[in-house]
Amino acid sequence: MATLRDTLNWTVNTLKDAGIPSPEVDARELVLFALGLNRTALLTRAHEEISASGATRLRELVERRAARVPLQHLLGEVEWGGVRLRTDARALVPRPETEGLLELSLRALQEMTLPRVVDIGTGTGAIALGIQQATSEAEVWATDISADALALARENAELNDLCVNFVHGNLFAGLSGRFDLIVSNPPYLPESDRFSAQPEVQHDPTLALYSGPDGLDLPRELVRAASQFLSPAGVLLLELDPRNVDLLAREMQGWQVEVRPDLTGRRRFLRATPDRPA
Ligand code: SAM
Ligand code: GLN
Repeated sequence: MATLRDTLNWTVNTLKDAGIPSPEVDARELVLFALGLNRTALLTRAHEEISASGATRLRELVERRAARVPLQHLLGEVEWGGVRLRTDARALVPRPETEGLLELSLRALQEMTLPRVVDIGTGTGAIALGIQQATSEAEVWATDISADALALARENAELNDLCVNFVHGNLFAGLSGRFDLIVSNPPYLPESDRFSAQPEVQHDPTLALYSGPDGLDLPRELVRAASQFLSPAGVLLLELDPRNVDLLAREMQGWQVEVRPDLTGRRRFLRATPDRPA
């Protein structure tokens, strides 16, 4: 039988040969998951032999990862924004950059008391659950047009013992009243990106990704509808693509708009408040 260290090296090399973009990170995660070990084992038990059943489990996982199934689908769960999220083909895998949108949301909420919040296009429930976890006094709503995504979001609320009001429908359909924060990571990629997307991204629902020729079909519709649902002192926060965020910002008449960068310095988030009547 191979040792843990040999097994890790074999996994890194196999994933590297398959052209996986981050073979070291993925190998570590898959080895620990398949063998049911925690991180310290890689340091303290590197010379121990692994079990036959663990080796079989690992080989199957590595084969699927080499075929470009997303790591998060194989692990079945991610830690994101302070919550645990089950991840599978029903919804988009939450991205690290979207934690920046959560951070902007929490910052905006610091200045509000008993806020009403809505996350439009909640997917796994990531943003809504991250907000509810960090600010228990907020009343959080979340919508999605995909019944599958919403079912997963509900499971994730239960997994984290959090209470969010989920609504199935198009944008704001089924909601009433005004919100102090409207946040959304809508589909925002130009349709033509379909042909150049990484193989892993093809495991995300297309409904979650693409939105017309410049990626702004749904974001534009969302902005138009948002003014009827935002309270006068409310904040609208959107994640967009660095290629189209300034375009939408320029189009937003009647709003004060700022564009904020993500952690890699790319223009990514749009923060908007309604113009106050003079
Ligand atoms: N909020 C999640 C996140 O940040 O990980 C998922 C974001 S994903 C990019 C966009 C989500 O919007 C998908 O779950 C998709 O089903 C949903 N969606 C697409 N069109 C929609 C619409 N017209 N109304 C509501 N949700 C929509
Ligand atoms: N950031 C995602 C990607 O690169 C796109 C998510 C979205 O369209 N909102 O695949």
